[in-house]
Amino acid sequence: GDALAVSARVAPLGSRLVLLLVEDLTEARRIEAVRRDFVANVSHELKTPVGALSLLSEAVMDASDDPEAVQRFAGRMQIEATRLTSLVQELIDLSRVQNDDPLEDAEPVRVDELVAEAVDRCRHAAGTKQITMAAGSTSDDLSIWGNRGQLAAALGNLVENAVNYSPARTRVGIAARRVSAPGGDLIEIAVTDQGIGISDKDKERIFERFYRVDPARSRATGGTGLGLAIVKHVAASHSGEVTVWSSEGQGSTFTLRLPEAGVARDRGQQHPDLD
Ligand code: ADP
Repeated sequence: GDALAVSARVAPLGSRLVLLLVEDLTEARRIEAVRRDFVANVSHELKTPVGALSLLSEAVMDASDDPEAVQRFAGRMQIEATRLTSLVQELIDLSRVQNDDPLEDAEPVRVDELVAEAVDRCRHAAGTKQITMAAGSTSDDLSIWGNRGQLAAALGNLVENAVNYSPARTRVGIAARRVSAPGGDLIEIAVTDQGIGISDKDKERIFERFYRVDPARSRATGGTGLGLAIVKHVAASHSGEVTVWSSEGQGSTFTLRLPEAGVARDRGQQHPDLD
């Protein structure tokens, strides 16, 4: 009788343990698969421009008596080299935002400076498509508590995408405001475009590394498929979030919500042993 009672008590415990182990293994397998996919994707993305460069350099050598062809091939080599450089740069950025704690160098970062920097970065691309950029804020003293470089990279990526995925003569708006939230005030920055939009199915995946709705279009604009993965990481590591609203053919709005650099937070940083 006793032995039976004991084994009856152990059995449910035991099966729960087995279930936990199985779940752990499944999670470990999933992480391993994601890592393997990532390496495969990186390899593939590197292979394309490197292969093109190799073919083009052969073409240049073969065309040495045709200066016009040499010019043409050299121009294409420059495009491939630029693509390679931006891919490597984005990989470095992604690895930084994944591995570094951004809040180690946290400081109050002025929103108007972040916005001006992002607009500057896209001025040329917007200009060639006659896209109007309009930035506005409900107040000129908004600041975010965070890592300046990472915040600039995140907002820059959103504005860059807005320009890249919009047709000519449209408008890109950047609007910043303070919103109150239970854990303290947040700064909300919304980037709105009148571009191609994103389907509901794709909305769930665009923040994944290397996911692109239209790979050819992304490549044509110098995209790497890593931009939104970087934005998502930066938002999360700053205790914030990034969300998307979009209507196909109408446009999209990407919204960053990040902790405000409040008075208390700034003081806490300057006098860490006050409390
Ligand atoms: P990419 O380098 O391809 O732009 P991202 O990670 O920044 O990579 O974005 C992933 C994909 O999400 C893009 O390839 C594009 O299909 C889609 N996307 C991002 N931003 C927008 C936008 N503002 N409008 C429409 N589609 C977008």
